[in-house]
Amino acid sequence: MNRRDETLRRIRARPDVPVLILGGGVNGVGLLRELALQGVDGLLVDKSDFVAGASSKSSRMIHGGLRYLENREFGLVRESLVERNHLLENAPHCVAPLKTTIPLFSWFGGLVRSGLIFCGSSVRPGSRGGVGVKAGLWFYDFVTRKNRRTPTHFLTRRHQALRDVPGLAPTIVATATYWDAWITQAERLCIELIDDACRARPGCLALNYVRPTGIDSGAVVLCDEPSGATFAVRPRAVVNATGAWVDITNAGLGLTTRYMGGTKGSHLVVDCPALHRALGDRMVYYQHDDGRVCIAFPFMDKVIMGSTDIRVDDPGAARCDAQEVEYMLTTLRGVFPGIEVSRRQVVFAFCGVRPLPASEGQVLANVSRGHSIRVDGPDGGRPFPIYSLIGGKWTTFRAFAEQAADRVLADLNLERRCSTEHVPIGGGKDFPADEEQRAAWIARLARESGLAESRAADLVARYGTAAETCARETDAEARRPLASLPDYTVGEIRRIAENEYVEHLADLVCRRSTIALLGRATETTLGELAEVVGPALGWDAQRRRREVEQCLAETRVP
Ligand SMILES: Cc1cc2nc3c(=O)[nH]c(=O)nc-3n(C[C@H](O)[C@H](O)[C@H](O)COP(=O)(O)OP(=O)(O)OC[C@H]3O[C@@H](n4cnc5c(N)ncnc54)[C@H](O)[C@@H]3O)c2cc1C
Repeated sequence: MNRRDETLRRIRARPDVPVLILGGGVNGVGLLRELALQGVDGLLVDKSDFVAGASSKSSRMIHGGLRYLENREFGLVRESLVERNHLLENAPHCVAPLKTTIPLFSWFGGLVRSGLIFCGSSVRPGSRGGVGVKAGLWFYDFVTRKNRRTPTHFLTRRHQALRDVPGLAPTIVATATYWDAWITQAERLCIELIDDACRARPGCLALNYVRPTGIDSGAVVLCDEPSGATFAVRPRAVVNATGAWVDITNAGLGLTTRYMGGTKGSHLVVDCPALHRALGDRMVYYQHDDGRVCIAFPFMDKVIMGSTDIRVDDPGAARCDAQEVEYMLTTLRGVFPGIEVSRRQVVFAFCGVRPLPASEGQVLANVSRGHSIRVDGPDGGRPFPIYSLIGGKWTTFRAFAEQAADRVLADLNLERRCSTEHVPIGGGKDFPADEEQRAAWIARLARESGLAESRAADLVARYGTAAETCARETDAEARRPLASLPDYTVGEIRRIAENEYVEHLADLVCRRSTIALLGRATETTLGELAEVVGPALGWDAQRRRREVEQCLAETRVP
């Protein structure tokens, strides 16, 4: 019996579950782990793949949120900075400090608009000048002074700034540089959170491609998409962590809510060596004339840039369109007029919907990125409460999960057992503390496994200290590099397929690895990957072809 069938068997054998979590984005999986560590068995299901929503489509910044200061969201910025530091500590294998530079086109610009926004007025943010930015950065440094994990900010005068970042618009007066953090493998960290939960509490279960279809006799009916089979579970509490889909999910459970007002945001991945060189090791954080903040940062040998902010009604239909591609390229030209990035250099695009709270009439950029929990008590044929998780940021998922867990624990008359503030995640456990120790760790792994150091380094970058498991594979076939992706081996890909809930080729390519993100999901590569995972997942030739076609469609650049 494969892992999925075994999980389904266990759910059917024990339909009484303490907590049913709907939605396997970072907030859902964060809550699964949070509850598991408090001794509560959760069942988490996602209608699609885990992390297929906003959690795999973010800008990858683990940040305080400098611009939220304009909205007087000091509490959110403070919480985000504290959580940023927790992630640097608990997931050092994929969260790292990120040097961030803001080009400044004036010293006093934007102060009036910032003042109006600060006083609660609904106006678009203006181009922010040096004085406003400096005040925000001072607050950043002040909040983190007791647990400083990143250097403090500084300003650079025009001439030096243009030398530091070649290609930057010569009309700048200065740049401001500060440090936040970024996450290299957001998707993998979510899978690690699920694994940590299931390891801590073997009664915890998680299944992708399972959706609720309604309530019957007080039980939630779930449908297993691959088989079409339905089964019922009887939860004591349901947590709706379906992000932008919260209201749609509630409607499916017979509850009418208007909690959400999502906006879609798209990003491009570009293959532009000149831009990559200009950015060096930093993110550039800049503004379009319409006040929207955009970013560009190096990601391995490519550059990720974005994003847009457009109101949408149906999160399932959100796609990056040609107009957004044009908007992002035009915006970049305003900051880097010396570097031409063309549409041909776009190797991948992704689009997600921010699960923002409903906010009629507000300027989108000013809608709060804070989080809250709405509770709808038992009602009529529904004997359990529904906790809807509204809003939030990737950065603050742990704090949000902690608050949601406390609410659920209190209602179930259970006590919190421990804090997750300092609990490492997945391959972040026992991760070497600094560059020197990391190099020694990689050298030891290479020596003991007989792998080349470069291969050991790749494994550590992907899996943290869990690289040890992958490196232990000694079978010659398992160690064979793929012809189309020589930095991956057959054994590595098979291990992911067998152990990480892969149901479709796109799960592997888009959400368990950076293959799609780096624009490497060509037809040849997908064909080879389908051959490697096919036997492990029981795919015949026809299914393999179908998977390749679907994956090509999913990863096509607009
Ligand atoms: C463009 C963009 C940029 C962003 N940048 C940043 C950033 O730089 N830093 C930061 O901190 N945050 C950022 N965010 C915000 C962050 O990504 C989100 O706040 C976070 O990922 C939300 O997680 P979630 O689990 O609530 O929702 P999601 O990740 O959207 O997960 C919801 C899940 O629910 C599933 N689902 C839907 N309906 C059902 C159902 N009926 N039953 C079961 N499952 C269902 C979906 O398939 C999905 O997997 C960004 C977001 C976007 C869109």
